[in-house]
Amino acid sequence: MSKIEVYQTLEDGIVKLGVKIHDTQANVADLLEAWQPLCDDETIYKAYGQNNHSVCKGCPNNCCNTAYVIPDLISFRQIAAQLQKTEPELIEDWFEPDKLALGLLKIKSNPCIFLQQGICSIYSLRSLICRFYICSDLTWETEKLIYTIAWSGAAATQIYAEQEGYLPEPAHGGFTSFDRFFVELVEAYRELPGVKAFLSAEGYQDIPLQHFW
Ligand code: SF4
Ligand code: SF4
Repeated sequence: MSKIEVYQTLEDGIVKLGVKIHDTQANVADLLEAWQPLCDDETIYKAYGQNNHSVCKGCPNNCCNTAYVIPDLISFRQIAAQLQKTEPELIEDWFEPDKLALGLLKIKSNPCIFLQQGICSIYSLRSLICRFYICSDLTWETEKLIYTIAWSGAAATQIYAEQEGYLPEPAHGGFTSFDRFFVELVEAYRELPGVKAFLSAEGYQDIPLQHFW
């Protein structure tokens, strides 16, 4: 039996995706291995996909056109290495200056700066929020699990950037409600074991899932 199983279920008349963890020692890499095939699976209902059952590749409503991406720390470091940039250079060239002025690390968007001819140019390094997002309904437990992981990774990037002195003193105004949500989330998550695991990990295989359920 695999460590993690992804399944479809009917809840209140709605088809939802769920995750079952069969191995308590499973890590984030194991979850990604089970989750990532969903984008290429035509049997999975996708609300914005062509005919609702297409694969993500070639999607006319590509969510990368509007995504608000704060990379998790593993992805952030890997993107800098792949582009042969220092981390401050990556922040200066690939992150939105107006958000940076607020002390926030949002990848340039609308569309995402890494989207080229409809395809992600950093696909194998893309952030957890990109890897986990799918326009399908999820069971409550699964939604909580994947977003707790993705937000823990993003909070770790924010904390790491603060520690390294990459961020300016944040301005006092200009925050959207989502910016505020993220600032408050970082404060709430700062001492959580899952965030500390991201800060000390070299890869997703070093981050146990048990921190997030
Ligand atoms: S997850 Fe994004 S790319 Fe995939 S079908 Fe939905 S909107 Fe399109
Ligand atoms: S990093 Fe890649 S997957 Fe994520 S929003 Fe940008 S283009 Fe899409």
